[in-house]
Amino acid sequence: MKDLLNIELLKNTFDDLPVGVGIFQVEDLNDIKSVRYVFMNKVVLYEMRKTRDEVFGKKIIEVAPEAFEHDGGLAVIETYRKVAETGENINLGLVEYSNEEVAGTYECSVHHIQDNYVYVMLRNVTELEQKKIELERKNKELNQYVSIVSHDLKDPLNSITIVLQLIEREYAGRLDDKLDKFFKYLSDSTTRMRTMITELLDFNSLGQGKEMTSIDCNVLIENVQKDLEAKINNTVANIHVDAMPTINGYKTELRLLFQNLISNGIKFQEAGTTPNITLSVKNEDGWTFSVHDNGIGIAEENKDKIFSMFQRLHNSKEYEGSGVGLAHCKKIVELHNGKIWFNSEPGKGTTFHFSIPQ
Ligand code: ADP
Repeated sequence: MKDLLNIELLKNTFDDLPVGVGIFQVEDLNDIKSVRYVFMNKVVLYEMRKTRDEVFGKKIIEVAPEAFEHDGGLAVIETYRKVAETGENINLGLVEYSNEEVAGTYECSVHHIQDNYVYVMLRNVTELEQKKIELERKNKELNQYVSIVSHDLKDPLNSITIVLQLIEREYAGRLDDKLDKFFKYLSDSTTRMRTMITELLDFNSLGQGKEMTSIDCNVLIENVQKDLEAKINNTVANIHVDAMPTINGYKTELRLLFQNLISNGIKFQEAGTTPNITLSVKNEDGWTFSVHDNGIGIAEENKDKIFSMFQRLHNSKEYEGSGVGLAHCKKIVELHNGKIWFNSEPGKGTTFHFSIPQ
């Protein structure tokens, strides 16, 4: 082992790696206090705020006795011992580290080399973690903001609706055509606004306070087809579903995702065409689901627009809808750490794909 570590080339290679690499020797497999630093590369020495001379060849108990004084430190050192004993690598995930000079979050894994020697790989993810926490806080704030504003908007809207109804009742049959049209327009607009507010609130609540469960997608899609029965029957749509997997996810949200994609496939068709929809799935480094239709297609230049809230490519006279379906789909897929995209040939059809990591 010593010979191997004396090879300058190997040391230099380790030294210049952008991740922290440290080699430890567990002298006595029954005693975690016997763990000794053999080699630490520049990154680890920098993170420890120590020099080679202060560390190389010394025991952890001599250099960093405080590591033995708290459960976190003890657990990490015990891992070195365990890996040396069993020969099996252990991924510790995120580890919080702090001493008088440094504090941070590290991604850490421990690997067996041979005999009583192990090496540790460390990556400082403190900044990333802080950004993640900050982003989560901002997202939460934004969700609360949307929720408050949406609820507040409902009050004046209700007042307008009540006044409109009163006027309509009071003047029933006495309004001339022009005024009648204005009232109808006002009433349609308030209904549309109420729908939009509800949809904003629905968007906000996707995935909130819910737990992932194991979901048989065959059953889920059967239920979606039952919900869409009227639409399927009216358009005589053919829906073909390949064998689907059981995955981990948010049930209500996944149901909404399949429902939106299938109903868009049925809806966005040239008049007189029978919708043919095929659902398939591939297992390639996670699941990739596809929903294919023979509809009107989507031009490439609209590829970002369609996933935004309330964005539509047609007016509601051509194809009814409010433009939230795909925004919901995107949020749902992202809740599952996946991606959504499509391939389309205008006039021939569209295939939406989404990935769900395993
Ligand atoms: P909505 O269905 O309410 O219009 P979506 O957010 O589901 O809203 O879709 C946004 C827009 O993307 C639609 O208005 C339509 O122009 C386009 N689109 C969505 N799915 C398809 C599809 N399968 N084929 C063609 N165009 C589609």
